[in-house]
Amino acid sequence: MLTPKDLDLEEKMVFLRVDFNVPLDEECKIRDDSRIKAALPTINYLLEQKAKVVVASHLGRPKGEYVPEFSLKPVAERLSELIPQNVILAPDVIGEEVLKLKKELKEDQTLLLENLRFHKGETANDSSFAQLLAQEVNYYVNDAFGASHRSHASVVGIAQYVEKSVAGFLLKKEVDYLSKAVHSPSKPYVAILGGAKVSDKIPVIENLLNKADSILIGGAMAYTFFKAQGYEVGRSLVEEDKIELARLLLERAQKEKVNFYLPSDHLVAAEKDPDTEVKIVDSPPIPSDLMGLDIGPKTVEKYSKIIAKAKTIYWNGPMGVFEIDKFSQGTMKIAEAVASSEALSIVGGGDSVAAVCKAGVSEKISHISTGGGASLEFMANETLPGIEALSEK
Ligand code: ADP
Ligand code: MG
Repeated sequence: MLTPKDLDLEEKMVFLRVDFNVPLDEECKIRDDSRIKAALPTINYLLEQKAKVVVASHLGRPKGEYVPEFSLKPVAERLSELIPQNVILAPDVIGEEVLKLKKELKEDQTLLLENLRFHKGETANDSSFAQLLAQEVNYYVNDAFGASHRSHASVVGIAQYVEKSVAGFLLKKEVDYLSKAVHSPSKPYVAILGGAKVSDKIPVIENLLNKADSILIGGAMAYTFFKAQGYEVGRSLVEEDKIELARLLLERAQKEKVNFYLPSDHLVAAEKDPDTEVKIVDSPPIPSDLMGLDIGPKTVEKYSKIIAKAKTIYWNGPMGVFEIDKFSQGTMKIAEAVASSEALSIVGGGDSVAAVCKAGVSEKISHISTGGGASLEFMANETLPGIEALSEK
């Protein structure tokens, strides 16, 4: 995979696609700037090499028209504090004024375009829009891992209108870690999957069935699998229309000889409510008036032993409703088990990353993937549209 280090950047104009889709509060103040900070190594390198840097990102879902709340203005201000020079914020993404700003841009300067999604051409991957993005541009650098599963103009389309397109350092790091798990995992390879829905993770499970030695299931998705085995699961979250598919996955797991584990005990309650009374049941089945909200202590113990022996770990999806303390123990203990293992450990998914942070063990994870959807899609398809679009993959 080529990176900016393979380019002669002096006085060249670079279009740098980043993921500055930061969370904003009601006053449009940035609540968490980690996505901006994550792009700094690439931005700083380009500036040091005397490139003219045009930075572009989406923010929220303004649906193809100008919406002031989704302006990148707060991002421009924050980025100005983080890099040596002030950032120039363009009034738009394309058009006369932007073209003029591009032409006036000097080496070592940064121009931040407005929100890419102010134009319908972005998500439609419209070729004339992509061509306008590429005006004056020599090189395209993609550092937006979190957007690279989208075939959008600034992720895919633009690449064919520039001299060369390469991966930014953040994208490269993501791909290096995830590729390790996908192509050459040290064994035993243990995948931990949880979260709300099986349907989100079907392609990942399918791919892992060929690769992982053990798959540990937790979260609500476990109940769709139990249902597929014919068990009653009470009021637990089940995807009725995915039961048949869950049955097929279980059948395949048996054929592939992967160890496919479902929880053997559960924390159950009548409601998903912090004040509700909880108890542990060995199961399945789950009593008809109760729902499973976390894995139980026996499951934690069993899973932790398997995790301790792993050489590669991929984790996506919390083991229970970890947002509520009462139902968070399973997820917290699994996070600790992953953190204390010596394996190469990768955690992906917005809620899973939040869970690892809540457990206070994020420092001990080898790689925390920044893009939820992108990281899942990479684990399923082993590549992404934004990676395929680069000059040399
Ligand atoms: P990620 O964002 O890491 O990919 P998901 O979005 O798939 O994870 O799943 C996270 C959500 O799943 C959390 O909001 C959590 O409360 C929910 N969840 C986990 N276990 C259960 C359960 N047993 N019942 C209901 N919801 C659950
Ligand atoms: Mg989520």
